Amino acid sequence: MGDVEQEVVDEAARCLRETLNAAVDVWPALGEPAGAFDSERGQYSATEYLRLLAGNAPPNGSKIVGLTGRDLFIPMLTFLFGQAQLRGPVALVSVARLRPEFYGLPPDSEVLASRLRKEVLHETGHAFGLIHCSDPGCAMSLSTALQHVDAKEAAYCASCRRMIGRALEGFRKEGR
Ligand SMILES: [Zn+2]
Ligand SMILES: [Zn+2]
Repeated sequence: MGDVEQEVVDEAARCLRETLNAAVDVWPALGEPAGAFDSERGQYSATEYLRLLAGNAPPNGSKIVGLTGRDLFIPMLTFLFGQAQLRGPVALVSVARLRPEFYGLPPDSEVLASRLRKEVLHETGHAFGLIHCSDPGCAMSLSTALQHVDAKEAAYCASCRRMIGRALEGFRKEGR
């Protein structure tokens, strides 16, 4: 949804496929929600992106993970790397602040891919019912700054892995 390279989308899909051992379809770009840009903040409303995703959520209960290159905000936060509703159908990740260029550094596709994997696993974890994890190395630990993202692994800890495994099992049993 706006300013995301195909390689970034493919990397996110590959990460989810491999980590969750689940079927992941890559969709063409959805476009961007109208009216999401806040000219005073120079940022885009995460709420509007989530709304657009929710309107496109598959009826069979599958999760939809949206990626955008736009810098997202919600009124109470300066920025956010992503957002998802707990056990909801949608997850959203912004790659804007995952890019080294955002901080005046040269582009680095490996660094971007690594950060992307962590945040995609994080928001998708919320969509499958996982809450924040106290293990700072776990993808489900809370990241409010880039240092937190860089400090964690692109993987769930053993406990979160068990929980998401159970969630996926329930999901599969329902014939989805
Ligand atoms: Zn979170
Ligand atoms: Zn964990």
